[in-house]
Order: sequence, then C-alpha cells, then structure tokens
Amino acid sequence: MKALFFDGSLSLTETPTPRPKEHEVLVRILFSAICNTDLEILKGYMGFKGIPGHEFVGEVVTTGRRLTGRLVVGEINCPCGECYLCSTGRSTHCPNRSVLGIYNHSGAFADYLVLPEKNLHPIPPTLSPASAIFTEPLAAAVEIFEQIRIKPSNNVFIFGAGKLGILISLVFRLNGCDYRTFDPNPSKVEKALEMGLNAFHLNSLVPSEMAEMCVDCTGKPEGISMAMAHLNPRGCLVLKTTIAEPEKIDLNQVVINEFCIAGSRCGPFAPALNLLSKGLVKPEPLITRTFKFPDITEAFEFAKSADTLKVLIDHS
Ligand SMILES: [Zn+2]
Ligand SMILES: [Zn+2]
Repeated sequence: MKALFFDGSLSLTETPTPRPKEHEVLVRILFSAICNTDLEILKGYMGFKGIPGHEFVGEVVTTGRRLTGRLVVGEINCPCGECYLCSTGRSTHCPNRSVLGIYNHSGAFADYLVLPEKNLHPIPPTLSPASAIFTEPLAAAVEIFEQIRIKPSNNVFIFGAGKLGILISLVFRLNGCDYRTFDPNPSKVEKALEMGLNAFHLNSLVPSEMAEMCVDCTGKPEGISMAMAHLNPRGCLVLKTTIAEPEKIDLNQVVINEFCIAGSRCGPFAPALNLLSKGLVKPEPLITRTFKFPDITEAFEFAKSADTLKVLIDHS
C-alpha cells in the first residue's frame, strides 16, 4: 500500500499493508485530516517515527465481522484492557497503550490501517464523511465537560480560535455559558464569527477582564501564562495545548490564586458523533482545503500556514 512515512522528514512510500490481529480489523481509508498534533510530530513531539495520522473516516474491509462494509471513525488509544488504569476506567491512560499515528501504532495517512474493532464507531448514514472526520477533535472538546463541572452561569474565556478552539467554543455555546473566544489572527476571528461564535481579536481583551474558567487551545507555549493572567482566583484553567516545545510557568500564581488546573486530552466518541449527527455542531466550515492523497506532502506544507484551519486528505 501507499503510505506517508515520517522519519525526520516526510515521504510517500510503498509499504506492506498491515495485518490485523485477532481483535483488530483492516480499515480502508476514505478521508484523513491533518491535526496540529501531526504538525507537532514533525517537530519531534512524542519522538514518533512511522506513519502518522489519527483523524480518519474509513470502511471496514475485513470480512465476516460486526462492522464489515460499514463506514467508521475510530478511537485512537489502544489500551491493554488488563492493567490497573484500564480496570479503573482510565484506559486512555493505559501505560501499555499504543496510539494511532502518535505512539507505536501506524496511522491513517495510508491506504489502510488496523485498529481493534471495539475502537470503531459506525457513522450514521445521514452524516457526511466531511463532518464525521471531526469526531476525534470534537470528542476532545467534549472531554472538558466529562472532567469538570461547568455551570451555565460561569463566564469562560477560550484562547485560540484554531480548529480545536472553535470546536470547544461550539460546545460551550451549547452549554449556555457566557463564553468569549480570542485569537490574535483576524482571519481566524472572522471564521469563528462566521460560524456564529462570540469571537474577538485578542487585542480587545483588557488586562482587568477575568473569567471563572480559561481554556488554553492556542497551541503556543505562552498560551498557559496568558490564560492564567485572565483567571479569577479559585478559577479553573483547562489546558488543551500539546506541543513539542515545553514552557516554563510560574507556579506561584497557581498557589497564590488557588487555581484548579485540568489537563485535557482525548474524549468520548459517542457524544461527539451524537452532536454531529443531530446537526448541533456543524464543523464543515472549518475545512480550508481538500488535497488528494498523492499530494499529501504539499498538504502538510499548506497546513503549516497560520491562516489554515482543517486540511482534509481525500484517499478515493
Ligand atoms: Zn487530532
Ligand atoms: Zn492497560
């Protein structure tokens, strides 16, 4: 099969089609999408070498299985199912896990991938693949609500109107919160406004304005400090940025202001698919451009530009 391989640089190569183990199935990729995590992998995040890609829509091609012939999206963590964390409901933190296209598991920028069948969720026939491809990042947005009690009366600042920042804002909007989304890039603010969000240029935020909850999805090392500077004492800081380059933060501010900090990563697919299939979250305006799979290295170059939101790869 054809696959995009990362080994310090990206190249499209011919490689053997992966063979599913007993509990796994082979999935033919129809669409994949480039995520910020993929761009960070190029900078050394997780030290990953191999086939990247973890956002996909595909068709199960292994015969005689529950999902054979179905269009699916897939959860990216492959836990052992047996360790202490797995048996206490924290399988996304399993120390023995592999993660699709991120850690020890070949990813979706290829003709085929393998995943455990239990990781896969069939897409409702009414949902377009171009919407369904957002299930994974939308699940990451929903995860905040799995972790923290958010009162509709809370005011919330969301820093970053990139792909994830916009998805998170759309979920906060559904919750009825008084939220504001900030970004220094005028084109991202404009896109967020176009999608009906309460978005502003970062310059409009004055130092005295504070929120009960700040969400950092800037994808930048300085995002944490910025979010902390606008958080009320005893407020909650949600961190969504994962980057190759770590940042030093002043923990004294956390102690003095009694901040609660929540790191937040992968979330549940079922509610995300529910939001998409009921049309409560409509993510398609986030697609900046779709490339054909043979042009994927060009697609990566395009994805690096500051104005780009989602880049889709069409494998058909
Ligand atoms: Zn992602
Ligand atoms: Zn485990």
